[in-house]
Amino acid sequence: MQKLRILFYVYTLLVSLVAASSAWGASAIGEQKLKIVASNYPLAYFAERLAGPRATVTLPAPASVDPAYWQPDAKAVGAMQKADLILLNGADYEKWLAHVALPRLKLIDTSATFRDRYIRIENAVVHSHGPAGQHSHEGIAFTTWIDFDQAAQQAAAVANALIAKRPELKALTLDALQMLQQDLAELDEEIRRITAAKPSLPLMASHPVYQYLARRYSLNLKSVHWEPGEMPPAQEWAELDKTLAGHPAKVMLWESEPDTQVVEKLKAKGIASKVFDPCANRPDTGDFLTVMQQNIKNLKLVFHP
Ligand SMILES: [Zn+2]
Repeated sequence: MQKLRILFYVYTLLVSLVAASSAWGASAIGEQKLKIVASNYPLAYFAERLAGPRATVTLPAPASVDPAYWQPDAKAVGAMQKADLILLNGADYEKWLAHVALPRLKLIDTSATFRDRYIRIENAVVHSHGPAGQHSHEGIAFTTWIDFDQAAQQAAAVANALIAKRPELKALTLDALQMLQQDLAELDEEIRRITAAKPSLPLMASHPVYQYLARRYSLNLKSVHWEPGEMPPAQEWAELDKTLAGHPAKVMLWESEPDTQVVEKLKAKGIASKVFDPCANRPDTGDFLTVMQQNIKNLKLVFHP
């Protein structure tokens, strides 16, 4: 009898311990954190905002490379195979996808909801620049997230994938999504307001990555294919002069701070250099939101000098 009573006591103690631990949420015993791999920083940022401490989010592309031109090594593929979710940008961003065996059910194409709105690049030219070597921008434009309405749809796709994995966290995830989409809507609204002042203002871009920004905010934008750290050859400058003859831009947008010699040479032509960083990889300081806010400040100087 005494033995039974002790057993019963142990049982009730265990039951109350389990109840207490599940009340602590994701840190509860037995509840594993979701393992999420993101193919670029915007998606990693969205996942971090939406899942908070309930997931570990990794961005396997090294900080020094553009994730669009990254190839996963065996270690990165292994991490993806072990992940619960693999967040893809879609729009042909993951050129490596066809060469890697991954469980289809884990793959989340975050831009699938607007695939009928992808921009196709015609007559792209292959350029050789930087240590990454040659690349072209043929096919589909992939910097989808700098149209902040599209970014909001990509964030929703991440939230849906999280909810499918952890239905018990639906309310928390949807609350986080609402806050994230509010932040993205503010960026969207601010760019609309700034650019609406001069809708036909001719602009140059240093690299063909601003197609969705230009469409969403009706920018009159033409592009060369230059890299921030390199002096373009004479032929490129001649091409620019030809473009400027019919498109008198006073500003060139750059993905990052360009080389001072290039800045000076552009300045001599009456063209100022302004950074609009797509933020495809994790920034040295700040986060997706602060980088975009700085981009908007820079854009404001273009439209309201
Ligand atoms: Zn390029």
